[in-house]
Amino acid sequence: MTPLEDAQEFVLGQCPPQQPIEVDRRMAGGLVLAEPVVSAEIVPPFDNTAVDGYAVLAADVATAAQSPVDLIVAGEIAAGAAPDRPLASGEAIRIMTGAPLPAGSDAVVMVEDSERLGVDGDGTERVRLSASVPVGAAVRRAGDDVKVGDEMFPAGTRVTPAVEAVLASVNAQTVVAYPRLRVAVLSTGDELIDDGSPLELGQIRESNKTMLIGMVAEAGCEVVDLGVVRDDETELENVLRSAALECDAIVSSGGVSMGDYDVVKAVLGRIADMTWMQMAIKPAKPFAFGTLERADGTPVPIFGLPGNPVSSLVSFELMARPAMRRMMGHSRLTRTSLVAVADEGFQRGVDGKVHFARVNGEFGDDGRYHVRPVSAQGSHQLSATASADAMAVIPDGEGLPAGADVAVLLLADLA
Ligand code: AMP
Ligand code: MG
Repeated sequence: MTPLEDAQEFVLGQCPPQQPIEVDRRMAGGLVLAEPVVSAEIVPPFDNTAVDGYAVLAADVATAAQSPVDLIVAGEIAAGAAPDRPLASGEAIRIMTGAPLPAGSDAVVMVEDSERLGVDGDGTERVRLSASVPVGAAVRRAGDDVKVGDEMFPAGTRVTPAVEAVLASVNAQTVVAYPRLRVAVLSTGDELIDDGSPLELGQIRESNKTMLIGMVAEAGCEVVDLGVVRDDETELENVLRSAALECDAIVSSGGVSMGDYDVVKAVLGRIADMTWMQMAIKPAKPFAFGTLERADGTPVPIFGLPGNPVSSLVSFELMARPAMRRMMGHSRLTRTSLVAVADEGFQRGVDGKVHFARVNGEFGDDGRYHVRPVSAQGSHQLSATASADAMAVIPDGEGLPAGADVAVLLLADLA
């Protein structure tokens, strides 16, 4: 049996990051930057006010906190408008958040510290200000967020919604990123029914492909659904060859275990460079990995996952997902792992394998993550695993007693 780490290292070694491309910023969400983003603009683009209030000269309101100061309201500037005149001593200009600070003023008094005095007979409006503010108060200086030439995001940054927003704010139209992986998903087996028709003896409903399509999409890839392929060599070969032409990776479920009727093995063995593994883990011991050469010489990775649904899920999590993330330029390949408390014991026997028990977990008042196994742990019992939060890593041996520390690998973000 191959230790999991060796199998992972072998697979990752053959799944290097893809060639970076220039991507429209609007299409870059979720991708990883392959080159740093350097700003060609400053943010904010001009000195502006952080509050609604009155632009003033700080010196004019130096004593306003002790005794309020009346100033002439010399105009009003809304966000989006440009000041039409500079401010002179003795004046205030009413100003809205985000509006440019008028020349001549050096601070803003909040509207909360003002009282409108109305308009005189000669048409002069006055305001009473009751706060003293230092020079620069409530002023956001041009370029105090981003300067021209600033490296905002280094290579390796994932484009989150906030990163997208910053790219928009500096008018970056394109970024250089690792492309989204296009992944073909298929399931194999004569017993699989996916059209809703009544089951005959020996037939079961297809479920792995449905799951894997979602998991591939959740990993940030584009999915190409290749459907259910019968245990027929010609059909399987045709499907795989055309998948290799239009996709960057292929995920297939079924037909990789020892005792399998050898259609998948025969076809992959013939058209791809495959390694058939027995990994020292439970579930998901059988696993196949290889590459199928495209006409242009590009090796297209193929992940041959076992057919048992739970094994398929675990195999995808441990083997396929990290490799796909590497191809998309991510540096953190695995899910969040943490040391949890086993609220129940984990019984197991010595078998040379690491067991991945599916668990539910929650944070306790002690600040620690507490886990217990889901009710059913069989590799065909997907319904219990479907509601699991994490996998507990139980090393080879006699198991763990209740209360013990246990390493867990989250299966999704903490809800
Ligand atoms: P295999 O890996 O092809 O030997 O399949 C192992 C077990 O998983 C068998 O019980 C299959 O019927 C079942 N199985 C294989 N593929 C699927 C699938 N796509 N959906 C649900 N069960 C499957
Ligand atoms: Mg099969």
